[in-house]
Amino acid sequence: MKITPIGAARTVTGSMYLIEFNGHKLLLDSGLFQGEKHIEELNESPFPFDPREIEKIIITHGHLDHIGMLPRLVREGFEGEIISTAATRDIAGIMLLDAAHLQEEEARASKKRYERRGIEPREPLYTVEDALLTMGLFRKTLKYGEEAELYPDLKIVFRDAGHILGSVFVEMRAREKGRELKITFSGDLGNVNKPIVRDPESPKLKDSDYLFIESTYGDREHKSVEESVRELKEAVLNTLERGGNAVIPTFALERAQDILYYFRELVEIGELSDLNVFLDSPLAISATRIFRAHPECYDDEARELLKRHRDPFTFPGVHFTRSVEASRAINNIKKGAIIMAGSGMCTGGRVKHHLKHNLWRKECSVIFVGYQAKGTLGRKIVDGAKEVEIYGEVISVNAEIYTINGFSAHAGRDTLLDWASHFHKDTTIFTMHGEESSIEALGRSLSELGYKTHAPQRLETLEL
Ligand SMILES: [Zn+2]
Repeated sequence: MKITPIGAARTVTGSMYLIEFNGHKLLLDSGLFQGEKHIEELNESPFPFDPREIEKIIITHGHLDHIGMLPRLVREGFEGEIISTAATRDIAGIMLLDAAHLQEEEARASKKRYERRGIEPREPLYTVEDALLTMGLFRKTLKYGEEAELYPDLKIVFRDAGHILGSVFVEMRAREKGRELKITFSGDLGNVNKPIVRDPESPKLKDSDYLFIESTYGDREHKSVEESVRELKEAVLNTLERGGNAVIPTFALERAQDILYYFRELVEIGELSDLNVFLDSPLAISATRIFRAHPECYDDEARELLKRHRDPFTFPGVHFTRSVEASRAINNIKKGAIIMAGSGMCTGGRVKHHLKHNLWRKECSVIFVGYQAKGTLGRKIVDGAKEVEIYGEVISVNAEIYTINGFSAHAGRDTLLDWASHFHKDTTIFTMHGEESSIEALGRSLSELGYKTHAPQRLETLEL
């Protein structure tokens, strides 16, 4: 068997493995590269394989850095079968359409710029039509723990990765040239004690010959979820006391639902009251609907709520604003509004309007609950910029800025090491999906535990 990482090798995004064995070609994940310009440029580079020859694609979860390349594969001829959990398929439906809309919009917006410079306008990476065609290929869904025979000589099992709704790690058994090969792909592993989703399952294929493990937080731990919820509560109470609004830049998938879940809990136990919370993001509202449709992915606590006929994401004072008019109306509120809007790093979307209206007012606050990548508007504010430019206007940063670090969907270092240490000591471990420093640190820690490790380069073919 040959496995070639196309992305997420010594970097975080662009997860995609090419798997070649017994004349078959498969992919595991098909993610977009995201972040700095030189990384995103990789999205346009030619595939080192012919998409028409790919027979199946296994998907670990619905984040764009794991699924965002699917429509481009379809555009270039992929017609095979996509295999995922039912929740991941539904998440992919909204995420890929949203991504395709953005691609088309950006291409349209840049067309004039390119023309004025006398160069050929840029085509979108893919279109809404490509995304719709892609959804038609999600033909096989698997449950957690269910074994699927993809070929007579290749079986896979999905296990709960506890990262986002529907996320899995993949256990694979292949038979090639009379020998059995066992491989585990961690996908993205979840943080412990997150709401709604379960904690990551322990690996079952402990005698795997090879393990591909994510390293996002291979060099550090998070603050605990409990501490972060406390910080969120304090930030909201302080803002209400000062008589301002709080803007919470929110990722539409998972983080938005997590924050709603915490607000509901805080209201129920009486630690917050008389809230006026707006989920001002059509994508997050759609994602919340998908969460409601997949209780099979819930942990015991969330199931318990359902038994009592309680919606995990609803509480007195929460408003879901889908229309542009309803979103604009929020601008008239001067105090007491808690506004959750995307994009999560303030690079676009409705949150920019809310920042424009609230960032310059010292009684308001901005509460960051997710990672802010270098170069984004969110990062500039977190790093203490005194003023920022929004829609061509210079806005002073007078609002109180809170940064809460413990809501990560990723396992911290100790959880990663604990999970990996279930494997027997003959497992060779490939460290993936992390910045260089995290990959190196995790590799070092795993070596200390007695494992043989290797951090592959992008496009390095591994002969297993
Ligand atoms: Zn992820």
